[in-house]
Amino acid sequence: MKPLLRHLSPPGIRMQLTLWYTLVFAFLLAISGYLLYKHLEAKLDASLDSNLQTQAQQIAKGISYDHGTIRLHGVARQLPDFTLSVEEERSQHVDVAFSVLVRLLDSRGTPLHETPAFENLMVPEASVTQPLQGASWHGTIWAQDGQEVQLYSQALSQNGKPYAVIQIGQPLGELHHTLQNIARELFMQGGLILLCSALGSYWLAARALAPIQQLTRAARDIKRGDLQQRVPVPRSTDEVHFLASTFNEMIASLEEIFRRQRRFVADASHELRTPVTAIRSKTDLALLQADLPAEYAQMLQEIKGETERLGRLISDLLALARGDEHQTHFELEPVSLDRLVQAVASTAEALALERGIELQVQAAQHTVVLGDEARLIQVVMNLLDNALRYTEVGGSVILLVEHDEVLAHLMVKDTGSGIAPEHLPHIFERFYRADPARTQTTSTGSGLGLSIVEWIVTVHKGTVKVESQPGKGSTFSVALPLAPAEFWANEDEPQDSLHIS
Ligand code: ADP
Repeated sequence: MKPLLRHLSPPGIRMQLTLWYTLVFAFLLAISGYLLYKHLEAKLDASLDSNLQTQAQQIAKGISYDHGTIRLHGVARQLPDFTLSVEEERSQHVDVAFSVLVRLLDSRGTPLHETPAFENLMVPEASVTQPLQGASWHGTIWAQDGQEVQLYSQALSQNGKPYAVIQIGQPLGELHHTLQNIARELFMQGGLILLCSALGSYWLAARALAPIQQLTRAARDIKRGDLQQRVPVPRSTDEVHFLASTFNEMIASLEEIFRRQRRFVADASHELRTPVTAIRSKTDLALLQADLPAEYAQMLQEIKGETERLGRLISDLLALARGDEHQTHFELEPVSLDRLVQAVASTAEALALERGIELQVQAAQHTVVLGDEARLIQVVMNLLDNALRYTEVGGSVILLVEHDEVLAHLMVKDTGSGIAPEHLPHIFERFYRADPARTQTTSTGSGLGLSIVEWIVTVHKGTVKVESQPGKGSTFSVALPLAPAEFWANEDEPQDSLHIS
């Protein structure tokens, strides 16, 4: 049971509020229902007693006492079989329910007359002795068949001396039935009220929590990286108002921190460019020295390689930092993706040959997108560079361009080392390397190649994704919106050849 409970997440605030409210309301409803029921019961009991008292007084008017003899007349004679004396045989057995229950006793407590049903009652002695001592008696007694009866007893007196006791009973079956009906009604109506209140409180909780939900939605947008977003601050000066304004203050200070950090990276990269260019040109100059010992020449070659790598890293960093600052200007023009891919592939042919990798291009004609040509070349080059770098001798790389009604698709497929599933979600992160040990030694990349691809593709309102199987190869797929039809018009005419550096 316990492990199951542990897996059940606690209900949301809306549900919790509803549950608590309903619980408290149910408790109050139960208490007030119980008190109402008890009050009604007491009232009905009291009215029954006063009814019995009135009836006893009416019957008493039909009983008179004359020189030691008790006589019946009027109302008393009309009671069923009441005139018969108690010893006389009754014609039939009568049920207590719905019967008239009256008994008359003399001053010694000996029964004189009674209605036929009265003989079924188990009457306590006190109901006779107490009235004879001057106080009326009332209480609940039982019939032999278990039915409850309310009994009222009072003495009849002449000149202050009791000469008889009159007892009158009323079966409680009907009263109990009425009370049961009331209880059932209370229960059903209480249930209905409780259901309505639960629904109402669920709705109210939803209303009260609506500003929080708005806040969550805005926070989710901010989580996607848009630090310029602010959550709406309600005008009422309540908890939500303070929460929203504190939240906005926090986002503003975060935005400022990120802005400063981006500025720093951009400035640092910019500043680093000049000395690195100087080192490179001086290394080139030193390498031109004719009498340079082979050992030094080797060292200078290594310095040149590392400086080139550093230069690439700095320009990649600068590109991303400017992109983050929204300072990069993208020159949008119709770009034929098939021609662009062909051109990039032809510059990489020599490298592929050198590495023993077969490079193929399959490009569907007329795949035109609106984009910045130089940046799109960078996308293809980065993907192709990776594909060639992570594919072994004898493998193959295919560049594929096709399009459907709305999108142009560019795919770079290789039969290389592939990427393990645990790395796949991270490879577009800056400086993320799936296999640092391997890439550190062989790589000439900056570790920012895929981040740059993702940035450029996103600015072009496209998407990039990867599918990979370790040991079998990877496929990087870029989808870009096709250019509107009017830009395709001159597609068949020869275009300026692409210059790729
Ligand atoms: P790098 O300069 O290290 O190549 P990238 O951002 O271009 O940086 O790539 C990030 C990581 O993704 C690489 O270090 C590599 O582990 C993995 N990767 C990228 N392309 C491929 C590929 N075609 N085959 C296998 N792994 C790849």
